Amino acid sequence: MQDTDRGIIIKNTPFSDTSLISMIYTEKRGLSSFLAKGGRRQKSPFRGKIESGFLVSFVYYRGHSAEMGVLKEVEPIETYPEIRENITLMEGMYSILWVLEHSPPEEKIFILAQEILKRLDTEGRIEILPYFFMKFFKIEGIYPNLFRCHVCGEKSVSCFSTMAGGTMCRRHCTQNDLPLGEWFNLLKFIVRGHLPEMNDTNEKGFRDMMNVIIEYGEFHSGSWFHRLREILPSSIRP
Ligand SMILES: [Zn+2]
Repeated sequence: MQDTDRGIIIKNTPFSDTSLISMIYTEKRGLSSFLAKGGRRQKSPFRGKIESGFLVSFVYYRGHSAEMGVLKEVEPIETYPEIRENITLMEGMYSILWVLEHSPPEEKIFILAQEILKRLDTEGRIEILPYFFMKFFKIEGIYPNLFRCHVCGEKSVSCFSTMAGGTMCRRHCTQNDLPLGEWFNLLKFIVRGHLPEMNDTNEKGFRDMMNVIIEYGEFHSGSWFHRLREILPSSIRP
């Protein structure tokens, strides 16, 4: 059966001496693997078209019982050339791909990743990454409370609890909860869609914010989130 789809290339691994298996986060089915026959050959028609991070459209076929599709044709839609010129943006892109590799099939996640990669490429601002993670939490239904007490709804908040899932008022905070600081002001800007520029004076706040986001992801989304502590660009890595 032949079909077409679009997707973001996650990674390619060698399969036999001449072929590749391409892992793609697809629009219709989420994460899927495809065989690229002859993909390792010098003159393969896939060459230069299935790099990690590319947005592609592709034609594939799948047998009745075969689990893995076989790629027939691939056409890059976006190659994000500016990202490839900059190591920080590259690390940002790999962080996004890591999230896709652990995401359920969800068209909204595909659309989000596409939007963020495009902005990373055209705006060149790594500050978009925390915005991406917060949007991911929202789609996954694990978005933290940030503007009211998670317990009683009080508007004046003074701490954040990963386990409880958001901010809390003074009455409900315990010693274990995180005091709100510069990191929280940055996060509030970011979830409203403004991207504060990272500079020497707020760099610590940025790293603290990323630490909160990663901890939150580890607890609510899965231990796979932990690996981002190694993948994230060094300038914002907690
Ligand atoms: Zn409260």
